[in-house]
Amino acid sequence: MQMEQLVALCKRRGFLFQSSEIYGGLNGFWDYGPLGVLLKKNVKDAWWRDMVVGHNEMKRQTGAPGLYEMTGLDCTIIMHPQIWKCSGHYDLFHDDMVDCRESKKRYRYDHVQGRAVTYQGKTIFVTTMETEKTQDALEQAALRFFGIRKKDAGNLAWDGSITAISQLADLSNVLAPDAKTVGTLTEPREFNLMFKTVIGALGGEEDSAFLRPETAQGIFVNFKNVCDSTRVKIPFGIAQIGKSFRNEITPRNFTFRSREFEQMEIEFFCHPSESEKWYQYWRDRRFQWYVDLGLAGDRLRLRDHEKDELSHYSCGTADVEYQYPFLPEGEFGELEGIAHRGDFDLRSHMEGKLVRDGNGLAPELDANGQPKHRGSGKDLSYYDEATRERFIPHVIEPSAGADRATLAFLCEAYHVDQVPNDKGEPTERVSLKFHPRLAPIKAAVFPLVKKDGMPEIAVEIYGELKKNFSAFYDDKGAVGRRYRRQDEIGTPYCITVDGQTVQDGTVTIRDRDSLEQWRVKKEAIVEELRERTT
Ligand code: ATP
Repeated sequence: MQMEQLVALCKRRGFLFQSSEIYGGLNGFWDYGPLGVLLKKNVKDAWWRDMVVGHNEMKRQTGAPGLYEMTGLDCTIIMHPQIWKCSGHYDLFHDDMVDCRESKKRYRYDHVQGRAVTYQGKTIFVTTMETEKTQDALEQAALRFFGIRKKDAGNLAWDGSITAISQLADLSNVLAPDAKTVGTLTEPREFNLMFKTVIGALGGEEDSAFLRPETAQGIFVNFKNVCDSTRVKIPFGIAQIGKSFRNEITPRNFTFRSREFEQMEIEFFCHPSESEKWYQYWRDRRFQWYVDLGLAGDRLRLRDHEKDELSHYSCGTADVEYQYPFLPEGEFGELEGIAHRGDFDLRSHMEGKLVRDGNGLAPELDANGQPKHRGSGKDLSYYDEATRERFIPHVIEPSAGADRATLAFLCEAYHVDQVPNDKGEPTERVSLKFHPRLAPIKAAVFPLVKKDGMPEIAVEIYGELKKNFSAFYDDKGAVGRRYRRQDEIGTPYCITVDGQTVQDGTVTIRDRDSLEQWRVKKEAIVEELRERTT
């Protein structure tokens, strides 16, 4: 599938628009249109239903090592700045970037890739930011640099494989992606990914705060509140869906790497002696969730991190990955990470103590005015009344991106096939084969013609459907054309009111994927669709 076709469909049919488009757009920000908002909401609702409200704590879930509870939370985007110092985001959450002195562009150090090439005794390292057809892009850049024509491309001598410039010992021989001369890149520098803002009218450095780069910390800092206000017992999970912000140096690949995006995160708290089992459970369960919603093919995989990829506190991490069509052949992009985080987070937030200052509570300062400790100094341990044991729970964190999931479902759904038109001739059809739970519109209602009492019945059916699902009414153009318009936005069922409806009260229902049509009594439509789409 060509990514450009999907991007064009998303814009034409109202799934995704570039943010602030009439002002030229804003890089790394995307708006969901009328259909996109329904699709993304269905993704988030499916997650919330399957993980949180639909969870039955009385009944063991498939594969779970025991019974457990699930609860939810909705925290603020701006939190106490100390939280980010404690979590490590303030000091460690950065990417390396390089600047091009010639083009004035800025790149993520590990995203610029290239290859050594020699022509008439001169060797340079030519680079590109392109992900698709990388070698083609490199060849074009080399031809441009050496001023030779495409037909002479055979005279270029390539060496080694395509490598990120972050792997090179020095950058002096590198031709930056948008430069005409070599050696224009600066040495890499660290760039913190958190967006900074200011609280209140005074606006001094001490009033600065950050937009959260992940939703997880809001859960950790509320751990005690949740334990005290509900009767949850370990093992249990707290789930949250919400916006996160990262000032990505090179946002790209449609919504895959945005600067504002939504996360769906669970922090699952358990006894240290059981954490390995729970880690395995969540790793498998989260993978299966994507399979059940339609990412079933070999474009989806679960990849365990190598030991050297793990954070210092983690005893295991696995990523659910999808082979997005904009990535080079064979490469996968992260949809979700499932991490065993030990007791790192709760223990960090427990460290130290807070003292009272003019504005409220603040960390205790040392002689140089620096916080003595990073944490809150609050006791975040858990007391198990049954075993009379006090301990700091271990945490398993399945952390998913709602936008990356929505994008993967869109990519997987996109199909082009041949179907007969009204005259029975085969014609090309574009359809989005969403799982019915995710489809933005569940059913469309058509009167076959705009007379003979058909519109009245169709409007009545549409009204009934609307009370239960997102539905669409269409009486314009030939029925075949109306089907195509619905196929293209992924509507799984189309209901047609025809001459027979007027006589016996039955309608046809047509299935988007099998094209099968069958008749049901109009009173039975809601029930039939409920069974098929929820
Ligand atoms: P990457 O390596 O791709 O930058 P990450 O490992 O930093 O991702 P996490 O910090 O584990 O990502 O965040 C959890 C999830 O949040 C990711 O699996 C992804 O689905 C989503 N996510 C993270 N960054 C972005 C982004 N810039 N745009 C959209 N979704 C994102």
